[in-house]
Amino acid sequence: MAAKCFFDEIIECLDAQKDKHKTAFVQPETATEFFAAKPESSMPVQEKPLRQPVAEQRQTHDAPAVKPPPAAPAGKVAVENLNLNELRVVALNCHLCKLHSRRNTVVFGEGNPHAELMFIGEGPGMDEDKQGRPFVGAAGQLLDKMIIAMQYKREDVYIANIVKCRPPDNRNPEEDEAAQCLPYLKRQIELVSPKVIVVLGAVPLLRLLGKTGIMKLRGQWDEYKGIKVMPTFHPAFLLRSPEAKKDVWRDLQQVMQFLGKEYKKP
Ligand code: URA
Repeated sequence: MAAKCFFDEIIECLDAQKDKHKTAFVQPETATEFFAAKPESSMPVQEKPLRQPVAEQRQTHDAPAVKPPPAAPAGKVAVENLNLNELRVVALNCHLCKLHSRRNTVVFGEGNPHAELMFIGEGPGMDEDKQGRPFVGAAGQLLDKMIIAMQYKREDVYIANIVKCRPPDNRNPEEDEAAQCLPYLKRQIELVSPKVIVVLGAVPLLRLLGKTGIMKLRGQWDEYKGIKVMPTFHPAFLLRSPEAKKDVWRDLQQVMQFLGKEYKKP
């Protein structure tokens, strides 16, 4: 059972830590370096420019097919009054920042449009850019396990990113890119109106909450426009530092407790 699987991994890594008499799991310097570095940096860069017409991009279950406008909007579209499907159409046609020029797809986000739990990552990687869906690569598979361990199904929650187009070489989204893209995410949050947002890593912590220091702030409740926010490590970080899973599990259990799920005090 996948929930057990994620938990088993935590137990295993705790045992491994015990065996090695380790006390400090992740040194702050190491983590800072890690968050600056890109987990997929060794993967080939997608050189292809956008070739896929937006109308052909996969629509997920929260979005019945909507005809995109005949041409990309020339400039900024006011998103405040758009519903989720309209917002998707605008985002799929967005050319506001330089990330549009190398994307294969726009990764809008997906999930239950009325989810009580929302996850926010940093931006699409190579797999997400290919498929037009968030968190479908290796980090996504670990996120799936986290979701199941929290007693949800992937389709119960909503998953989105700070930027909707893949940054080249999986670098962090730059300030201007995040700034141009953020209104889409903010409107998504407003429309989905979750009870809890789990912020995955340093990038969404900085861009959504304007805060730095994921090592210190993870596990501490924060707030975005009256919505509870739990910052935790990005699953890509966990793939590199599995010993940090126990910390994430603690963070997720706080979320589960708040959402009335069965949880176990660590
Ligand atoms: N990493 C992210 O932050 N988002 C994704 O969608 C995939 C990997």
